[in-house]
Amino acid sequence: MTGDKLLNILLIVIDALRPDHLGCYGYERETSPEIDALAAQGVRFERVVSESSWTKAAVASLLSGTISESHGVKTISDCLSCGDSYLPTILRNVGYVTGCVQTNPFLTTAAGFAQGFDHYIELFDSAPGVYKPRVQEMIPIVSDWIDYFGGSPFFLYLHLLDTHHPYEPSKMYQQFGSDAQSLYDGEIRCVDHHIRLIRDILVQKGVSEKTLYIVTSDHGEEFEDHGGSFHAKHLYEEVLRVPLIISSPEAIPSGLSVPTQVRSIDILPTILNLVGLPPQPGHHGETLCPLFTSSLSSDRLAVSQIGSEQSTTDPTIAVSDGEYKVIWNMRADSQELYHLAGDPGELHNLINHEPTVARTLLAQGKALIEPFRESQHRYRAKPKAADVDADMLMRLRGLGYLE
Ligand SMILES: [Zn+2]
Repeated sequence: MTGDKLLNILLIVIDALRPDHLGCYGYERETSPEIDALAAQGVRFERVVSESSWTKAAVASLLSGTISESHGVKTISDCLSCGDSYLPTILRNVGYVTGCVQTNPFLTTAAGFAQGFDHYIELFDSAPGVYKPRVQEMIPIVSDWIDYFGGSPFFLYLHLLDTHHPYEPSKMYQQFGSDAQSLYDGEIRCVDHHIRLIRDILVQKGVSEKTLYIVTSDHGEEFEDHGGSFHAKHLYEEVLRVPLIISSPEAIPSGLSVPTQVRSIDILPTILNLVGLPPQPGHHGETLCPLFTSSLSSDRLAVSQIGSEQSTTDPTIAVSDGEYKVIWNMRADSQELYHLAGDPGELHNLINHEPTVARTLLAQGKALIEPFRESQHRYRAKPKAADVDADMLMRLRGLGYLE
C-alpha cells in the first residue's frame, strides 16, 4: 500500500500463453515488446507452475489461492465455491470495486466464478455458437469501466482468449508464418499490442502510477513437445509453466528476475501483501514478496493435477521440488520421474533408476492434498450441470476441449 489509498490491481490472464514464447523469457521472435517492457519495469518470475493444465481448475486455483481439493473444480460441470477466500470477495470486502471482463466459456457466472465481482462481463454471451472473443472488444469496455470506477481503488481482471487454440490472428499479425506456432506467435503479438493500449488508458485516466500490473496465464500450450498439441491432457512442463510479471511504479523493484520455482497459487497472497492486506488462513500459496530481496530462497514444492475419477481424462498428479518432478497417472498406476535441471524437456524417464526420489516427492505431494480430501464435501459441486448446456458444449468443442 502506498500513501493513504489502496493500490489498484489489474490482473491480465492471457489464456494458454507459454512463457518461452515471450521475448523477456528468451524467445528469439519479437512477440512481446510491451510485456517485455512491463517486465523490465517490474519483477519477472522465471519458473512458475500452474495448479492445472486446463482453464477452469487453473483459474479456480489462481483466484482462490488453493489447490483443487479445496476449491472443488475438477470436472467441466463442477462449480467453484470458495467463499471468503476468493480474491474478488476479499478485495470487495475491504472497499475495492471489483470487475472482470472474461472470454472463456468455462469461467461462467453459473460455475461460480462471478462471486465477489461487482461487474462480471462475459463477452462470449454476445454471439451464438463457437466464438472466440478478441482483445480488441475489451478496449472500449476497459476504458468505460475505468471512467466510471477508476476513482475508487479497483480490481480489474481481464481474461484474454486470443492465444487459445484455434490460432487465427488477423492478417496484420501473421508476420511470423502460417504454421501453428507462427500463428500462435501472431496472436501473442496482437495481445501484446493491446496490452499497450490498456496501459495507455490507465495512464490517460491518471491511475497507472497507483496500479499493480500482473500479467500471467492459466496454463501453457503443447506444440508436439510430447507428441501432442493444445493442453488439458497431461502435466508436462510445456502445459504447466506460465509467465508471471508483476509491475507497479510505486511498489515493486524494477528489472528483477527471480529464478526460484514458485506456483500460481502464490499470486493471490502476493497481491494481498502488496496492497497491505494481511495473509488469510485458507490459502495454500505464500507471498512472493520476500523473493524481491533475497536470492537465497528455496524452490517451492509445486503440486499440479488434472482429471478425476469421474472424468475421461486420467486422474494425474505432478509434484516438483524444482530439481525433480514425478508424474503419477492414478488410473493407469504408472509413474514418471524427470530430473528437470538436466532434462527440462522431460524426455528421460528415471523412474526405474531413482524410485526413492519419486516416492519421497509423491509423499510430499500427498501430504499436501490428503487433509483436503476429507473436507471435500464442503466444496463439492452440487450435482448440477446447468452451465454445460448444448451451446456451451459447442463452444468447448470449438476450442478443442471435446472430441
Ligand atoms: Zn485456459
